[in-house]
Amino acid sequence: MNRVYNLHATLIKTGQHNNPLSLRTFFLRCAELPSADTASYAAAVLLRFPIPDPTPYNTVIRHLALHSPTLATTLFSHMHRTGVPVDHFTFPLILRHSLPRLKPHHLHPLILKLGFASNIFVQNALINAYGSSGSLNLAVHLFDEMPQRDLASWSTLIVCFTNNGYPAEALSLFQQMQLGDPQVPESTDGVMMLSVISAVSSLGALELGIWVHAYIRRAGLGLTVPLGTALINMYSRCGSIDRSVKVFEEMPHRNVVTWTSLITGLAVHGRSREALRAFRDMREAGLRPDGAAYTAALVACSHGGLVEDGWRVFESMRSEYGVYPMLEHYGCMVDLLGRAGMLLEAFKFVEDMPIKPNSVIWRTLLGACVNHNDLVLAEKAKERVNELDPHHDGDYVLLSNAYGGVGNWGGKAGVRNSMRENRIVKEPGLSVVHIDQVVHEFVSGDNSHPQWEEIMKFLVSVVDTIKLGGYAPNTSSVLHDIQEEEKEHSLGYHSEKLAVAFVLLYHRDRKAIRVIKNLRICYDCHSFMKHVSGIFDKDIIIRDRNRFHHFSKGSCSCGDFW
Ligand code: ZN
Ligand code: ZN
Repeated sequence: MNRVYNLHATLIKTGQHNNPLSLRTFFLRCAELPSADTASYAAAVLLRFPIPDPTPYNTVIRHLALHSPTLATTLFSHMHRTGVPVDHFTFPLILRHSLPRLKPHHLHPLILKLGFASNIFVQNALINAYGSSGSLNLAVHLFDEMPQRDLASWSTLIVCFTNNGYPAEALSLFQQMQLGDPQVPESTDGVMMLSVISAVSSLGALELGIWVHAYIRRAGLGLTVPLGTALINMYSRCGSIDRSVKVFEEMPHRNVVTWTSLITGLAVHGRSREALRAFRDMREAGLRPDGAAYTAALVACSHGGLVEDGWRVFESMRSEYGVYPMLEHYGCMVDLLGRAGMLLEAFKFVEDMPIKPNSVIWRTLLGACVNHNDLVLAEKAKERVNELDPHHDGDYVLLSNAYGGVGNWGGKAGVRNSMRENRIVKEPGLSVVHIDQVVHEFVSGDNSHPQWEEIMKFLVSVVDTIKLGGYAPNTSSVLHDIQEEEKEHSLGYHSEKLAVAFVLLYHRDRKAIRVIKNLRICYDCHSFMKHVSGIFDKDIIIRDRNRFHHFSKGSCSCGDFW
């Protein structure tokens, strides 16, 4: 700061404090010494000695946006009021930093008035600003109206679609860019590809993912840490963990996030031992695990039922790396103990936690009690959940299933009634399959699919076929009942069965059937998939809310533990 004062003092002493050229240098020097103080000092000088040139304003606004956004707004208003001209850097700068009182809908009229509406930098910035502030429609409208688009225009809108939760739209725009638009340059950029990869991941569309990966190779982008890590995640979420491992091995550099993606991927695909080996290799490579890496390792233990390893990992957090366990780490431990049926130990663990357990932790415990049919402990956990979070539906479903299982139908009706009274509605089950880049959606009990009748008829015959192989439809078991949706009845098969029947019927040459399901798979569907994979000789890969199930030759990668 002293250097800034000295510099300004010199200007004053030499009579240069009014000279635009000297002032410009002064503002540049201020920006080279970034702090809140230098930023506001520079603004004060500029407010006092306005220069009819946008460059110093842009410099100081850029500097202020990080340290004092309100003052940046003031400076822009001053600039506008005193008639200092604006250039094509000014608006993108202001839009990018989302300054107070200068949101896109405030600035848009001014942009039109000052004649910047057809400037491509300004247009791209405006699309980004609308898209990031939730006005996606306006962003799309602006994009459609553009007479000329550059790579940044496409990239901006793709990123906006992905960030606003429209992955399918993001991908179709990306494809449109490849195929349709003659204006598009051959090159691409990493930011856009990260967004495209993220869109593929949330859709779980493997074919698209492979195509995007090939595109990145062709574009010569190189396997940087962010791109490689995103690809590892993408392949894992598309159900192809082997491809994730391959990308990991090809990467020239990796950081903790890269390793964590690999460990998480292996964990949710039921390869717990390999996940723990990767966790060890990471530490041996000299990297220091952070909270997220520990979560990944604990999830691996939990999915694999590895109680002893779980304790070892948990204890090592503090003792080896001084990482203090957070709620999520305690949650993983509760899940691990609970799944293993060590309910009393899990209860004691929660009660002894040094931080206050939240409703998620109690709910995890409640789920475990229900799965292991311990209604006394379940009631206890339920009380705690209710205190913390009275309006959640999952617990009602769990408890209602538990009552159903032990024949306490009165209790079951009671819980269901209180569910209705509290207006808690279950999320319907939805399964998605991607075939040749076409998306097919199946909803339990919904006959809107054009081939619904054929699929249903075929499904009935599939059930009959696998019954001969020993499948017994089971809609009442409580031991494994982690059902999140209504039980199946004569007209409503769960959506994943419909999806698999559809692929078997219309795409019989496919060796692998990939389904993405929004809820956890139930016991009966799990058993159905095992039998179908054996009898029809198919690999069925289902991504459910929690993890992946790879069904092959009559068994599942989760070892029936999910
Ligand atoms: Zn089911
Ligand atoms: Zn499974």
